[in-house]
Amino acid sequence: MKKTLILQAPAKINIGLWVKFKRQDGFHELGSIMQTISLHDIITLNETAEPGITVSCSRPGVPLDSTNLAHRAATVFFDQTNIHPAISIHIEKKIPVAAGLAGGSTDAAAVLIGLNRLFDKRLTVADLMHMGATIGSDVPFVIHGGLAAAEGRGEKLAFHEPPRPPLTVVIAVPTGVAVSTKWAYENYLPGNNEAKERSFNQILEAYRDRNLDALKKLVFNDLESVTLHRYPEVLRIKERLCASDEGVVMMSGSGPSVFGLFADKRSAVRAVKNLDGLPVDVFVEHTVKKHF
Ligand code: ATP
Repeated sequence: MKKTLILQAPAKINIGLWVKFKRQDGFHELGSIMQTISLHDIITLNETAEPGITVSCSRPGVPLDSTNLAHRAATVFFDQTNIHPAISIHIEKKIPVAAGLAGGSTDAAAVLIGLNRLFDKRLTVADLMHMGATIGSDVPFVIHGGLAAAEGRGEKLAFHEPPRPPLTVVIAVPTGVAVSTKWAYENYLPGNNEAKERSFNQILEAYRDRNLDALKKLVFNDLESVTLHRYPEVLRIKERLCASDEGVVMMSGSGPSVFGLFADKRSAVRAVKNLDGLPVDVFVEHTVKKHF
């Protein structure tokens, strides 16, 4: 009988993003704290009688060909395990696209995890993370999930226990604004790193301690200077979400999504009220633990 598997693919936020310098290979050396959250896509894998890989998606505009990261993940998995591909992948898209929430990467991660289970290959998490690194630099992190301090291009990961109890996370995404990650990095001019090195080490500690007052003073995202300047509507969302002065509010990755960390749902809902009237999609979620 043909098998089916349904998996959740969680989004991630960057709690701070430090763009250290541009490397010889053209990529940027980064420092970031990454956290998976409860907002997720749903991936359904169906074994098929016909050979090949097909992708469908609930959201129009997402590519369905071999450029879809879920498709790429399946290709890598079948190539490396010498299994003849015969699979359909359906993506129920809940994560906003091109919003700095790793939507494509997390779909790829779920496909690798799911195919490993469906075909009973018993690859370890480390094996899957290694495979994922060939698809995109965020993929190894979302395979593991939870909380990590990331370096390199985002692939050198040190995992930690996420804060307990979980923090409430507000995600606010301006409608009609898509930011190219490549554009944001190309337009960033790295500056003095010394003070950032010091505060970056303290960000993880403040976050894990749920010390939002300390975190607010320490946290920074270097790419805000690029994206907030070009897209004032993102700045407006950030200002409104900050207005209640109860959470830590910051752009995630290259944007345009803005997130707020709150100690509880009540303070999160109070902050969300300040977004009334703005063209924005809002999600009230929470931080989650690792996949495995
Ligand atoms: P990151 O934070 O990793 O830079 P992102 O969250 O900003 O990523 P995605 O949602 O992954 O961005 O979408 C970026 C582009 O990737 C989209 O414009 C889309 O064309 C392409 N893409 C490929 N596969 C997927 C997928 N499975 N889901 C969404 N977008 C995909």
